Formats: sequence, structure tokens, C-alpha cells
Amino acid sequence: MTDNNQVYYYMNSSGSLELEAGDKSVVRNMLASQYSPTDLQIYYDSTPKLTGTGETDILYQEGDVPGSYNGYTWCDDPVATYVCDQTVVRIEGGGYYKPGLSCHETGHAVGLTHGADAYPRRNQRDSILGCMETPTDDLTPLGANQRNNINAYY
Ligand SMILES: [Zn+2]
Repeated sequence: MTDNNQVYYYMNSSGSLELEAGDKSVVRNMLASQYSPTDLQIYYDSTPKLTGTGETDILYQEGDVPGSYNGYTWCDDPVATYVCDQTVVRIEGGGYYKPGLSCHETGHAVGLTHGADAYPRRNQRDSILGCMETPTDDLTPLGANQRNNINAYY
């Protein structure tokens, strides 16, 4: 999970992990349509804090990820069990910044899991998982169940 309900995000705008304008638009629109309607408050941070305490919560990057995955999310700075000050979302180049996958990786950043890791456990493709289905369809939204999960915690 992220460390509180105020979620600041940044999208890499230069260098080898830069998002193209179209990718940024996908992320911006996805956050506005899927996560802003939850109890999370989503803000863009144009001057990201990358070290110390109170870092920018989610960094979106475009670049290579391990193995055959198209997206990968990890905690860069754990502050407690399952709580993270800064989470990195990296999605492969070549058109993989889709609403569904960016919703999925953002879900991990705020504490959502795959069906196999959920309680109660669910099939990885159970539609109740919304964009946390694995594999993830390009346009699957967050869904009411995941909105409730987020709102129950934050
Ligand atoms: Zn995943």
C-alpha cells in the first residue's frame, strides 16, 4: 500500500525511462477515471522527491521489465510491512501503456493483489478483480469491488 490517501505521482519526462506524450495521456486519463473516484486523492507532482522521507508516491517509467512481463511494480522505499513510501511502476515500451495495464500496476502500488494472492483466493481471471485480472485486458476498468477494497483501507 502507499503510505496514506494522498497519492502524488510523477511520469518520467526525460532520459531512457521517459514516457511519450501518448503514454502520459493514458496514465492521466486512467487515474482520473479509475482512481480519483475512490477515497484516494490523486495529484501530479511536477517536482518529484526521490530520496529521504515523504517521497513522491508513484513514479511511472517506460522501460524494460523482468522476464516476459509487460509491466512491473516494486516498492523502492518500504516504511512498514506492506507499506511503501515510493513505488515504481515500469511498463515496457512499444505500446504497452494501456488503460488496463496502467490501472493494474497502479493497483499494486496502492495494495491490490492478483486473484491468487487475494483473500479469499480468486481465479486470476475472475471479473470481480477488475483490472487486477491476470493477464490484463487493455481496457478493463478498476471495478466496483476494487474501489470498495481501496475505500475500506484508505
Ligand atoms: Zn500484477
